[in-house]
Amino acid sequence: MSKGYSHIVIGAGAIGSATAYWLAARGAEKVLVLEQFELVNLLGSSGDHSRIIRHAYHSTDYTRLTRAMFQAWDEVEAKSGLKLVHKTGGLDLAPAGGIGDTEIAGYRTALDAVDIPYEMLDAGQIRERFPQWRIADDVIGMWQEDGGLLDIRRSVSAHTSLALADGVEFLPHTRAEGITLRDSGVSVTTSAGTFDADNLVVCAASWLEELMPDLGLNFRLTLSQEQVSYFAGKKLADFTPDKFPIWIWHDTEVFYGFPVYGEAGVKLARDMRMRPITSATRTFKGDDAEADILRDFLSLRLPGAAGPALANKTCVYDMPADRNFVLDTLPGHKHVAVFNGAGHAGKFSSLIGQIMADLTLDGATQHPIDAFSLRRPAITDPDFEPVFRLIHSV
Ligand SMILES: Cc1cc2nc3c(=O)[nH]c(=O)nc-3n(C[C@H](O)[C@H](O)[C@H](O)COP(=O)(O)OP(=O)(O)OC[C@H]3O[C@@H](n4cnc5c(N)ncnc54)[C@H](O)[C@@H]3O)c2cc1C
Repeated sequence: MSKGYSHIVIGAGAIGSATAYWLAARGAEKVLVLEQFELVNLLGSSGDHSRIIRHAYHSTDYTRLTRAMFQAWDEVEAKSGLKLVHKTGGLDLAPAGGIGDTEIAGYRTALDAVDIPYEMLDAGQIRERFPQWRIADDVIGMWQEDGGLLDIRRSVSAHTSLALADGVEFLPHTRAEGITLRDSGVSVTTSAGTFDADNLVVCAASWLEELMPDLGLNFRLTLSQEQVSYFAGKKLADFTPDKFPIWIWHDTEVFYGFPVYGEAGVKLARDMRMRPITSATRTFKGDDAEADILRDFLSLRLPGAAGPALANKTCVYDMPADRNFVLDTLPGHKHVAVFNGAGHAGKFSSLIGQIMADLTLDGATQHPIDAFSLRRPAITDPDFEPVFRLIHSV
């Protein structure tokens, strides 16, 4: 081991904190985590109360991993004694015959391929089970019982706390400013000095671009300032997790939402509202016009939840051109692993932490991650046409 650390992890968000936990759990010798803000911060993409967790995905690249994803959370819940995943069931809805219907058909293909069960519902069955919905007769639904919400802020806290207890060193308010790669080992220059390690794991999310030159990377990462809003509806009690599931509405626009959790309001958002930003131009101020669009959706489809906005929260999608994860080691440097979550990795964060530990302890992982390679066209081809909607045509 170099005179420093066996592993340095850059970033202590959902992915970095999980990586720290699993490295310690796997017996890594000496782990240092660098975080530019405080630990368990609200300034990255992992600070809100909830994230959707589900098996239902548009591609087997993801459904092949979802069983292991839930298993990883089971292990962390058992170790911490904390509940992190709340299974409410997951409901995907779409008007029949449209792009949303095609999207759900892609989900079914990806679930069938790995034998994960689901149930198709017609409008009458949806209304019967969830009378909160006001929908037309042509709406179809797909129900998957394991869907739910991950308490992402608590998951960061749990992974960080368990890792600290296992002897991992965390340096908050310490920004990684430069990386020197060597054949075996790295040096990381920070606002608090230079640290050496045998292995490096980069989980810098929407700040990854700033570290790309030192990593020999140069791919497009599109940042979009997204917003979720919480609404104070008159019938909150109808939207508690025991009565109302997580849901995704698939149509020309995609909306998604949660039962009441964290804040005392019903939460929803549009996927990909597309507000291009840079890390420097990102703001933390919500946008009332966006809240109006979301309330209009509620008034139309979930009237019992359509009330004044309680809170607007901004967050950043950081997306490679095909909106798939980056989960790989650097070409020529197997001791350096890099992750990017493309705006949908919260649910996978504990499993990804495990995979990062596999890659930098064993040099390989049993989990199928080829689809997330740094050698794919969306990363290597500057002319790759961006595709940000997660759809897999059947
Ligand atoms: C609006 C919205 C809704 C979402 N909904 C879902 C959902 O329903 N389900 C789901 O699975 N996922 C969802 N996601 C995605 C999910 O939130 C992210 O994929 C996940 O939180 C990413 O975790 P992270 O650790 O990569 O990023 P972050 O939490 O942003 O952590 C990165 C950390 O690295 C630190 N850092 C960066 N650069 C440096 C540096 N140079 N030196 C030191 N520290 C550094 C940052 O300060 C930060 O703390 C959503 C995202 C958004 C924006």
